[in-house]
Amino acid sequence: MSLPSYDPNDNEAGIKLLEELTTNADLVQQQVLEEILTTNSDTEYLSSFLNGHSDKQLFKTKLPIVDYQDIQPYIERIAHGDKSHIISAKPITELLTSSGTSGGKPKMMPSTAEELDRKTFFYNLLVPVLNKYVEGLEHGKGMYLLFVKPEIRTSSGLMARPVLTSYYKSSNFRKRPFNRYNVFTSPDETILCPDTKQSMYCQLLCGLVQRHEVLRVGAVFASALLRAIKFLEDFWRDLCSDIRSGRLSDWIADGGCREALSCVLKKPNPELADAIERECGGGGSWEGIIRRMWPRTKLVEVIVTGSMAQYISTLEFYSGGLPLVSTMYASSECYFGINFKPLSKPCDVSYTLIPNMAYFEFLPLLNDRDRDYCNGQVVKSQAVDLVDVKLGRYYELVVTTFTGGLDFLITWLYRFRVGDILMVTGFHNKAPQFRFVQRRNVVLSIDTDKTNEEDLLNAMNRAKLLLHPLGLLLTDYTSYADTSSIPGHYVLFWELTHDSSKPNLLVRDSLDSCLMEECCWSVEESLDSVYRRCRRKDKSIGPLEIRVVRCGTFDALMDLCVSRGSSLNQYKTPRCIKSDEALHILDSRVVARFFSPTTPSWEPTPLD
Ligand code: AMP
Repeated sequence: MSLPSYDPNDNEAGIKLLEELTTNADLVQQQVLEEILTTNSDTEYLSSFLNGHSDKQLFKTKLPIVDYQDIQPYIERIAHGDKSHIISAKPITELLTSSGTSGGKPKMMPSTAEELDRKTFFYNLLVPVLNKYVEGLEHGKGMYLLFVKPEIRTSSGLMARPVLTSYYKSSNFRKRPFNRYNVFTSPDETILCPDTKQSMYCQLLCGLVQRHEVLRVGAVFASALLRAIKFLEDFWRDLCSDIRSGRLSDWIADGGCREALSCVLKKPNPELADAIERECGGGGSWEGIIRRMWPRTKLVEVIVTGSMAQYISTLEFYSGGLPLVSTMYASSECYFGINFKPLSKPCDVSYTLIPNMAYFEFLPLLNDRDRDYCNGQVVKSQAVDLVDVKLGRYYELVVTTFTGGLDFLITWLYRFRVGDILMVTGFHNKAPQFRFVQRRNVVLSIDTDKTNEEDLLNAMNRAKLLLHPLGLLLTDYTSYADTSSIPGHYVLFWELTHDSSKPNLLVRDSLDSCLMEECCWSVEESLDSVYRRCRRKDKSIGPLEIRVVRCGTFDALMDLCVSRGSSLNQYKTPRCIKSDEALHILDSRVVARFFSPTTPSWEPTPLD
């Protein structure tokens, strides 16, 4: 099914197209599935279930609903260079590394060059929706802080990189319709700079130099924008000095950045440097700094739903009440939905799934209360179609995706569980709208990391071995994502007791801080590669902290949960704390705090 063509600069045409797609959601979905099945019926994977047929009903009854573990062997074959038609009719050109991990390594989703067209189509449709609600955005610029991440090569020479890095490096991004009007403050070269620090410095510098032209400020996720604010706090003096002198600091070594900045930082501008210094260095609060620094800004465009909701209050503080706009819901596997009411409050944001992005199915949760225990066991096996979901119900999203364009239509993921739990909040024409509820089974997330209960437990099990020689036992634990400072960090609450069968080796009954710091580090070292990359390379997560609580704390936590309706029989210590009340119980009983003394190891590893 070819992508509908229209002029991306024509807002009305964009809105009309969205109306058509959502009005014909059922038909479009059927066409998508038909196309996928007829194109790929001969591939090894599909024919093993469908025997060469391309019948839609057969697809629904015969093809299993899978998750990453099920398809990992196929992906590894591709990564190692198997060129046979395993799953798709056309060769795979790259692997997209998702922020989710499997066995400590980033997940990889095969893709093709043509898939970029589908993403570009999706991005272009975000523009008319925003323009419909916010007037005059075309009269100024967007300061979007975007970054690339490291790429790795698999043993077969395929490139494996995150989906956004792949998009930013594509000609689709360079040639995006609005780029040629110079409507973004960050030159492409600064976005493509592989060194995040230089990239951030240069993008902020460009944004500051053009501060009176900026009408919107944004990043992909809320966490990235907050990092930029922290960076501004740390580097405003250097930035001002460069603006004052009209010369880029010597430590910016990246050739692309230097060349791009030579067109932006053209001459000394002491007035601008003074103005920025007054705002940043006046000794006052940084409340509303975004509005003060970029005074014409109408909105802050960052995703603040899902795990990013934890940053809303901090962002509200810095943005001085500007609307926080979550425009889209997407993943490495597929781009899913658009927020048709971009100015709605973060808690009211819903995404309308765009019916020609993939074939969507939904696994209903057995019982809506089960959403708190979304561990994959609680969904019904019967998946329903996009247009058949029911208002107010919770579902897990399942996708069958394209990875190709018109002539290269190929498909990759068949009935793949994305791992996201969504709730139906309404319908736009025939297309349902969903609130993002949560990622299945993720307990902690600060940036792109997603740590699940099992990973956390495994990491803790290794760390707690360090306690045994001292006769200490870990009796219970829970965790918390502390985002009160930037960058946020993981906090573990540990309750410890003495093993009465062993001599108490603690010096004067106090905890050995070197040992406890080693425990912090050991947990970090055992967490997955995305966590370690965020800690070591991106510095988007701060040192892990262990807060030791006094004996009896976890009993008090249980009392609270039971008083709030948990069954005493079935009570399990929550492995992640979300409520302020529970946090207060834990924090008020902390006897000692320890931080990881150094960053964990990390290096981009090719598949071998
Ligand atoms: P990745 O494949 O690493 O890009 O991660 C994709 C995942 O990020 C999705 O499956 C969601 O769990 C999460 N995500 C993406 N967009 C949003 C959004 N707008 N709101 C909440 N979570 C999101």
